[in-house]
Amino acid sequence: MPFHKLTGEVEMSSSIQKDKKYVLHGWGYSDIIITEAHGAVFKDQNGKEYLDFLAQTAGVLGAGHAHPKVVKAVKEQLEKGLTHTLTMFQNEARANLGEKLAGIAPGRMKNNCMTYFACGGSEANETAVKMAMKITGKKEVISVFWGYHGGTLALSSLLGQSWHREKMIRYPGFSQMPNAYCYRCYFGQTYPECDLICARYLEHHIKHATANDVAALIMEPITGNGGHIGPPTPEYHKIIREICNKYGILCITDEVQTGMGRTGKIWGADYYNWDVDIMSTGKALGGGLPVSGASIRSDLVPEDMKTAQWHIFTMGGGPVLAAAGCAAIDVLLEEKLWEKSADTGAYLTKRLKEMEKDHPIIGDIRGPGLFVGVELVKDRKTKKEATDEAIAVFSHCLGKGLFFGLSAKAGIGNVCKFKPPLNTTKEQVDKAMDIFDDGLSEVEHKKGSGGF
Ligand code: PMP
Repeated sequence: MPFHKLTGEVEMSSSIQKDKKYVLHGWGYSDIIITEAHGAVFKDQNGKEYLDFLAQTAGVLGAGHAHPKVVKAVKEQLEKGLTHTLTMFQNEARANLGEKLAGIAPGRMKNNCMTYFACGGSEANETAVKMAMKITGKKEVISVFWGYHGGTLALSSLLGQSWHREKMIRYPGFSQMPNAYCYRCYFGQTYPECDLICARYLEHHIKHATANDVAALIMEPITGNGGHIGPPTPEYHKIIREICNKYGILCITDEVQTGMGRTGKIWGADYYNWDVDIMSTGKALGGGLPVSGASIRSDLVPEDMKTAQWHIFTMGGGPVLAAAGCAAIDVLLEEKLWEKSADTGAYLTKRLKEMEKDHPIIGDIRGPGLFVGVELVKDRKTKKEATDEAIAVFSHCLGKGLFFGLSAKAGIGNVCKFKPPLNTTKEQVDKAMDIFDDGLSEVEHKKGSGGF
């Protein structure tokens, strides 16, 4: 199914024809050609402007489209004439990026981690898992329902949505357990009476669903792709950590979406005070360029991992990319983007809460920061997913110039996701929420007259 198609509204330009003939999209299809972008706004081929409330791919443009500092850093590095070096050699930009990333890393990793740089979040997670296997000598990995860690063959078996693995081989030893999904608790419980059974369940999973050979547990602190689902309290991660300690399992936080200020803290692990051993990063780390990394606590790194051949992704940490990463971290710190995320996110959430009273289709609103998910339901009692309605709201809003996240198949299809650049203004939030409000009314009206 096309993710979005403006049939008839868009001129079949030669670029679109070329694209149709030569390009595979892989994640849905749209006839919109993005011709220009700045801050939280992009323009299409007809000059129409859209508020980018997804920062393109789930928060990549955390500091906005074409942030001048990132553009300047890339230009300067390009002008130095050094675009690529073999990973064995040193390049100054990569060393700087390693230092900057360590300087903001969560918990015990702060100023105490080493990073293998790559280009995408999948590469970062492949590396993170490999690190855990090498260090522990164990082979199994646990992840959670609705989690997303990347599109490679191995990682497909770590995803908490089985459709990713359709017609593919299941990687042995990779398994999933229920996540902390309070709105639809798998254990039929309610917080706090539940005593966080979803976290304690990990021990049953290790005992009964593995070969007791678990190297790591990998988790997004809050699932992004899957539908913005996070545990209610840091106690969850404390329990997870204790169980992992008991069984010699390393904790990997996948910060590809939740990192770089998105949740109102620099990392999702900071938000939950999760004591982690390995962290994967990507998306916003490159300020729009492909920069990712697997960072690991320095005290866990064996000597041979520092010098021997054990892993390679050719392009990771290239000087131009690393310069972009350094600039993205500088912008994060200079503009205190995580504080903006907390403040503007609270404002956005307040607007949604106000809307909730008038729109019974809203089932649940989940933050934190500018990492907001709105779950739409046909009925608040049955909680039946309003997936078609969510698609209709999305299309309506897109037509009115608001773009946000919605994955009809990839995640929980009835969740509208708002993750705009962290320096989006409150005026832009107001504009976006007015359009969304209008979209909900439109769809509810249609629903009331038998349209759904
Ligand atoms: N982890 C998370 C949490 C993600 O959201 C994504 C991408 N959506 C990835 C990993 C994979 O990143 P990439 O597509 O850059 O390989």
